[in-house]
Amino acid sequence: MITPVMPTYGRADLVFARGEGPYLFTEDGERFLDFGCGIAVTSLGHAHPHLVKALQDQAGMLWHTSNLYRISGQERLAERLVAATFADSVFFANSGAEAIECALKMARRYQFMNGHPERFRTITFTGAFHGRTLATIAAGGQAKHLEGFGPPTDGFDQVPIHDSNALREAITGETAAIIVEPVQGEGGINPVDPEFLKAIRMAADEFDLLVIYDEVQCGVGRTGRLFGHEWAGVAPDIMAVAKALGGGMPIGACLATERAASALTAGSHGSTFGGNPLSTAVGNAVLDIMLADGFLEGVEKKAARLRDEIEAAIKRHPGTFDHVRGLGMMLGIKCVAPVGDVIGAMQKHHVLAVPAGDNVMRFLPPLIIENEQIDEAIAALDAVGAELGS
Ligand SMILES: *Cc1c(COP(=O)(O)O)cnc(C)c1O
Repeated sequence: MITPVMPTYGRADLVFARGEGPYLFTEDGERFLDFGCGIAVTSLGHAHPHLVKALQDQAGMLWHTSNLYRISGQERLAERLVAATFADSVFFANSGAEAIECALKMARRYQFMNGHPERFRTITFTGAFHGRTLATIAAGGQAKHLEGFGPPTDGFDQVPIHDSNALREAITGETAAIIVEPVQGEGGINPVDPEFLKAIRMAADEFDLLVIYDEVQCGVGRTGRLFGHEWAGVAPDIMAVAKALGGGMPIGACLATERAASALTAGSHGSTFGGNPLSTAVGNAVLDIMLADGFLEGVEKKAARLRDEIEAAIKRHPGTFDHVRGLGMMLGIKCVAPVGDVIGAMQKHHVLAVPAGDNVMRFLPPLIIENEQIDEAIAALDAVGAELGS
């Protein structure tokens, strides 16, 4: 018989009752080190006092008014995102997929407004993940996500990542945009070569296409910079952000230059809940911490130590682990043993990690971890390495 909760996830048999910093606790008080952050969402840990206070204060004042009125928290969050990035304007949504939808619609509409209604296609890359709506599964192009849902939504052309010739050959008179994750997440933690991001930028500029970055997973501090593409120093025209922006409150955002954003005139796009007072109050609280002097530098330093320790552990257990890759606190451990077994074994040692494509285990720890948590994770990695190594 079907469960009341629709069975779309293969869930671990664990129920958490509360969280505190980097730890989660079950109802009977068992403690787990959370190196998944709910898939890169709770990047400041659980029950962060500053976030809790921001939410509580807002909850007692005002929850929702709709976007028919100005929302001060939304305006402030937009101003701060604009000040911190390439962008001039921000549209708020509730999730990553919705932020991507806004980006795709904006790119099509930009071409339409500039006299090119025939340009509606977006070039995507192998290994991509952009969400689970009809348009975003077509953008991701993964057979397992498309199966059984009818003809994929038209308007996406996928090419191999890191192949500049294939990219240029795929551009036609119908192309509007190119979308890429600066660090592919679900695909297996693959940082895109800065040279390839430059090639995308150059091709887009040559053919008047818009560049869309999907920073839903790698954005908001995850890589040790506010946004992942800052490592490469190549800016997009449009960028989708979500996961960590709300620290666990659902929020998504589509950032864009004035040139791109001007295409979405009043009435052309919308969202009932997007950017409401509750979610933007928490989004502002997240930025209070991430933009504080020295915070991201500290993340980068801790991430370097974590990575060194992982590399050393991998050398001790070559039968279980192959190598580590990624940027900052967005790390992928390519496994030799099946990643599902590795994740299950880590769980037995009370460390939560997340699987990804290409037999990779993702470590997405809270950015606030200390050396003590790094040591705990490495101890679990060593134990699992010994258990599963042949
Ligand atoms: C999670 C994710 C999405 C989709 O976000 P949802 O909030 O689940 O809709 C899109 N792109 C990337 C890169 C993601 O990691």
